This record gives sequence, C-alpha cells and structure tokens, in this order.
Amino acid sequence: MSLEELQAIERRSVVASYARFPVQFVRGQGARLYDEEGNEYLDFLCGIGVTNLGHCHPRVVAAVREQVGTLMHVSNLYYTEPAMRLAQRLSQSSLGGKVFFCNSGAEANEAAIKLARKARGGGEIVVVHNAFHGRTYGALSATPQESKQAPFAPLVPGFRVVPPEAGALGEAVNERTAAVLLEVIQGESGVNVLTEEALIAARRACDTHGAALIFDEVQCGMGRTGALWAYEQTGVAPDAITAAKALGGGLPIGALITGPRLADVFAPGDHGSTFAGGPVVASAALAALELTDDPKLLAHVRELGGWMLAELAELPHVLAVRGRGLMLACEVDVSAPEVVRRALLEQRLVVNATGPTTIRLLPPLIVTEPDAREALRRLGEALAA
Ligand SMILES: *Cc1c(COP(=O)(O)O)cnc(C)c1O
Repeated sequence: MSLEELQAIERRSVVASYARFPVQFVRGQGARLYDEEGNEYLDFLCGIGVTNLGHCHPRVVAAVREQVGTLMHVSNLYYTEPAMRLAQRLSQSSLGGKVFFCNSGAEANEAAIKLARKARGGGEIVVVHNAFHGRTYGALSATPQESKQAPFAPLVPGFRVVPPEAGALGEAVNERTAAVLLEVIQGESGVNVLTEEALIAARRACDTHGAALIFDEVQCGMGRTGALWAYEQTGVAPDAITAAKALGGGLPIGALITGPRLADVFAPGDHGSTFAGGPVVASAALAALELTDDPKLLAHVRELGGWMLAELAELPHVLAVRGRGLMLACEVDVSAPEVVRRALLEQRLVVNATGPTTIRLLPPLIVTEPDAREALRRLGEALAA
C-alpha cells in the first residue's frame, strides 16, 4: 500500500496517540531501513533503543524461525527451556538473583514497584525529576511529567519526587520508603547522566533504612552504554534492575532482575502475565544477550561512542553534548523537531528529538565507523539547512 493509503486508514481507524512522520518502512538490515520506494535510510534511533544489534540480525532471526515453528506458547503453568535458560543467563550476567519476565519496560517497572512494596509491607517509592518509567498506572505515577500525568489523574498514591541530587535523595529516604527508582542515564528526558554522588547517596540511604535501590535499565541497559548493564560503569550495585527495549533483539519482552536480597519476595500467585517469557521471545532474547555480552562489541560501543560524542560537538548549532557509549544527545540553538524532520525527509537519517532543543541518537551497537561518519555528515546538513 502507498503511504497515502496508510494515512487514510490511520485517519479513520487508528487512535491518534502517535504523531507519525510521513514515512513507511518496509524492510531493515543492520543499520539501514528501506521505505516502499526502496530508498535507504541510516537508522540512528533503533526503534528507540530496541534493535541494538541492527535490523534482522541473522542469529536472532534464526533463533526466532527455529522456535516459532516448534512451540509458540504454553503459558507459565509449564516449563520451557528458552525461559529458564534466559533467566539463568540474565541473572549470571548481572545481580545474581532471580528474574521475573513480562512484556515491556512499563511492565518491568510495575513488577519492580509491586516487589518493593511487598518486601516493605507498603511504603513510598522515591523517583527523580524528569524520570520516565512508562505509561501504565504504576509506571506513569513514577514518571513525574505534568503533560503525561495530568490528563489521567488520579494516579497511584505513594510516589515522592526529588531532584536527582545526593542531598535530596539522602533526605527523601526513611523507614517508610519501599524503594528508590532511578534511570542511571535518563533516556526520554534527553540523555541526562545521573552523577556518581547521587547514585552513591541513594545506595547509602537505602542501606541505612532498608529500602530497595532499583535501576531502570530499560533504555541504558543491554550494551547501550558500552557495558552490558549501565550500573557496571558506576560504583553502585542496585538491588534490582528492570530491562526491556533491546532485550528481545527486536521482539517484545521485559524483565525484572533482582539481586539476592529481593530474590524471594514474590510467591506463587503474587504476580503474573499470560505471554511473559514465551518461548519465541525468550529464544530471541537469548540470542540477543549472547551477541551483546561480548567484550569486543562493548569495547567498540565505548570507543565509537566517545568519538561520536566529540564529533557531535563540532556540528553547526550544537551547544552541548551528553551521553555514554552509544546513548548520545546534543543540545542545539535551533528547533530540534525541525532538524529531526529534515534529517529524516531530506537526509534519510533517523534520529529523534526528546525536547524542543534536544536531539537524541541511539545508533545500533554494531554500527561501523564509516556509517557513523556518514550519519554525522547528514545530521550536520540538516542542522545547517
Ligand atoms: C521506554 C522506557 C520505558 C517504558 O518501556 P515500554 O516498553 O515502552 O513500556 C521505561 N523506562 C525507560 C527508562 C524507558 O526508556
């Protein structure tokens, strides 16, 4: 179908919850996307940090093909090998506790909030300014952004919002605190790296008062920053992390991964999800995790990311750059949404704007230096136009 036909269907039949660009993608391979006319685009957004291994990575595709023709679904009333193996590998690669599977980032945070409250017998969840944890009610209540929350009041009670600073975090935690929930690097609010002091203060306050420290690694995890998990690059180990986005190699799966302290909080019947950890998505995730948990790939992410950050700073209209690994953003003195639109429609480069003056880049971890150079050239053209 043509783009115009799809737009006509959208106007009649699709809930208007997204502002789509006038582009139809029909195929993807590696760092490239193709529209219905065969035009090639460089994808430096990865479906918002999902296709971290590039589009249609052959090992992920092979794992899915094999599993989808063997067994698609049986529910969590029974064992399947992909789910058990994925849980084992996720635990061994991170906090060494236990894993609860779900289907998205929001659901992973819902599970984390429920777990923390059960562990504490109620209590407050402390979150920070500009956080994004998802759109379902618990996750939305942990997302202190007026425009996202206000139309949907009343929210879930018991959330407390503080600046992401050591002093404020230290003061916010007390005997009634169930958890502090943080993104190590805030994604949706424009790649804001939390300071080491803030993370250390949160860890100390949680230890003092018996609260859980939970890191939302839905966006910054799975190799994005040049470590498998972003917390590894800080001096702080959390009690649990949440993951989703890139976890399934392009398919929808989320996970709450605990450390030993929270591993046995949930009992049978406490929480669940029909599709969670199904054999197809678990097989895809196992392949994605094996490919991502590779020192050579992670070193490439750190090296190329450092180079890109420096190059980004030299582009016209760029005032400042932020990020770690291949989770990057720049602050510009022109309209970021307009630059992003020009980049897409005129330069065939996919990036996005997280605010009126912020452009975010989430290139695939497998991106080559020549492709990164070409993407920066295209972004430079879109900025200068
Ligand atoms: C995207 C995101 C979420 C929500 O994930 P969904 O899969 O869209 O529900 C939660 N936390 C962070 C940090 C995210 O980037």
